[in-house]
Amino acid sequence: MAKNCQYAEKCIIFEKGIPESDQPKYLIHNIFCTRGYKGWEACKRYKMYEMNIEPLDDIFPGNDEPVETIAKKS
Ligand code: SF4
Repeated sequence: MAKNCQYAEKCIIFEKGIPESDQPKYLIHNIFCTRGYKGWEACKRYKMYEMNIEPLDDIFPGNDEPVETIAKKS
């Protein structure tokens, strides 16, 4: 059974998906949030939570910038 990311309860992207995106919320869940460790590790928001940094709402899981660069903006 799929297990949710441990940060799902406080993650706005888990709750709402990516605003104005062609990717429906269930797809984001399947790619990142409920996929297990492989999906979580691919998510920039997850990595930020792991660094004890609260990601801004507009940081998306598939952001292609290095997490250190994103973290400086948060
Ligand atoms: S995998 Fe990423 S987008 Fe999904 S709930 Fe966790 S931190 Fe949020």
